[in-house]
Amino acid sequence: MNGPRFDVEAWVRSRFVVRNADGGGGYDRGFLKVDCPFCDDSAGHGWVNVLMGWMKCWRPGCPASEGLEIVEAVRRVEGFTTQTEARLFLRREFPATGLDPLPPKPPAAYDDWCRLPKEFRPIPKSGSPYWTRTGGSMLLDEAVAFARKQWGVGPATLARHGAGYCWSGRHAWRLILPVVMGGAVVAFQGRSYRGGEPKYRTSKWGSWDDRDAECGRPAEALLFNLDQVTEGCDVTLVEGPGDAMRQTADAARGDSGEKPREDVGGRPALVGRDSVAVALLGTALTDEKAALLAAKAPGRVIVAMDAEPEAEARGRRHVEVLRAWGVEADLGRWVGGKDAGEGAALVRTRRPGLTGLVLGRLGR
Ligand SMILES: [Zn+2]
Repeated sequence: MNGPRFDVEAWVRSRFVVRNADGGGGYDRGFLKVDCPFCDDSAGHGWVNVLMGWMKCWRPGCPASEGLEIVEAVRRVEGFTTQTEARLFLRREFPATGLDPLPPKPPAAYDDWCRLPKEFRPIPKSGSPYWTRTGGSMLLDEAVAFARKQWGVGPATLARHGAGYCWSGRHAWRLILPVVMGGAVVAFQGRSYRGGEPKYRTSKWGSWDDRDAECGRPAEALLFNLDQVTEGCDVTLVEGPGDAMRQTADAARGDSGEKPREDVGGRPALVGRDSVAVALLGTALTDEKAALLAAKAPGRVIVAMDAEPEAEARGRRHVEVLRAWGVEADLGRWVGGKDAGEGAALVRTRRPGLTGLVLGRLGR
């Protein structure tokens, strides 16, 4: 896989006197001995393993005594707010020429749990008695009709994602889309279908004891459909869960040859069928989201933000961030609509104007 491409040793030498620069003290094995910047050290208690990308201090009680990832050390020493800023700085100031063996930081562990709203009604699976009898629920029909109109996905796709809807309670008149990570529901996002604002509302994060809390993982560490990403597979990074579901609907149809009875026909596919669509559940690509995606070691990631005026700049920024996290990324843009839900196709814009890179059918 791609490692972050930066030269750890060059950064260390720019900031510290390397006490074993003439060899010895593990220098040959990549250990650089320095004065620790995290405590009042002037005797070379700090060391950096430039091969592992790790920094540590031997003084008990030092904040770095447990060791920390080099990007985190750079963040603190240089005074950046986020690890992404530190990574961008390293890539800009200390680019490595060859492959860098640094693995991406493993995602933080969360106390994962999720309480779906008690008013949650699941979308019945396709082929279940609900869909074969007449005189169904108008409430359900309204929720499903919205998904069909807005995203071009029908009940089969919704059911596959464990979606449901509410018509009372805090999430009344919202489609509820569970966020599954590591095989378990860790959060959910509700999308209003009667004009309620905000359009999207993510489950409230808090401790299990908090009666108002709905999940144990903050929104900045959620990615929709991440479990489907396998090592080396291509990813389309979209904003909303509807765009991601649209993609899986297309993929499932391609696999089974199933006619798109349940979905709106005639809409173009997203990027190639082998690509997994992952949704940010918003527009921000946080450190946690970047780390989670990088840890999956995907192949190429096509960033496909909605076609709004400011979205292209945002998309470019996301591409830069993903690259800083060691992920191969390119910008895509929608043709023929605002997003996949509007029936647009995605065109990769690595080389602008080169239409040979169209990866799906064109929208119109
Ligand atoms: Zn120290």
